[in-house]
Amino acid sequence: MPDGILLVVSGPSGVGKSSVIDAVLERTGATFSVSATTRSPRPGEVDGEDYWFVDQQAFSDLVASGGMLEWAEYGGYRYGTPRAPVVETLTDGTHVILDIENDGAHQVKHAYPAATLVFLMPPSRAELEHRLRSRGDTADRDIERRLAVADEQILDAHEFYDELVVNDDLESAISQVVSILGEPATPDGTSRAFPRPEDAATTRSNTE
Ligand code: 5GP
Repeated sequence: MPDGILLVVSGPSGVGKSSVIDAVLERTGATFSVSATTRSPRPGEVDGEDYWFVDQQAFSDLVASGGMLEWAEYGGYRYGTPRAPVVETLTDGTHVILDIENDGAHQVKHAYPAATLVFLMPPSRAELEHRLRSRGDTADRDIERRLAVADEQILDAHEFYDELVVNDDLESAISQVVSILGEPATPDGTSRAFPRPEDAATTRSNTE
């Protein structure tokens, strides 16, 4: 059976990444790679679904044991992709979607050149600013900072990413990403839960 596709999805804060990714997961049965992060959960976020919320030590241990496929610092916190579940899932023939920022995407492409890198673009800078402001949860200074980060990410995306998808119309953005993945997504059409990264790291070191 061929390996699944490793699909990296990046995009500036406020571009609507989660809406696109959630719909693509639902339509294709691909598996979402749950990242580990040192930041605290936001209201409504669930450990093991949105992220594995880990402390600094656990994160450092995962990095030191080679348990991260990639990791980066963003906004003062560390974020990383536990390696073992991604590798196992791809080997099963199931597609895996990573929601990670540009630095991590570069590392993934380096480690796994077959990965497809998709960048979700806002229709315009003005529209991105409008979306960030209308969420109402971000201070003015943070909005300026996020827009500056977005400018850099967009420049990088033009140079480095495989596909740029403009999220103007949500439905059209979703179908473009679905078509990049193609079918089938999983051998049995179901998605799988990942083990905790610590457990995955233990399993990995036990078998090496
Ligand atoms: P947030 O804290 O808003 O959930 O995520 C902040 C940024 O971190 C987003 O751009 C998201 O794509 C990125 N991110 C989430 N998980 C990972 C990861 O495992 N690795 C990297 N490099 N970035 C991540």
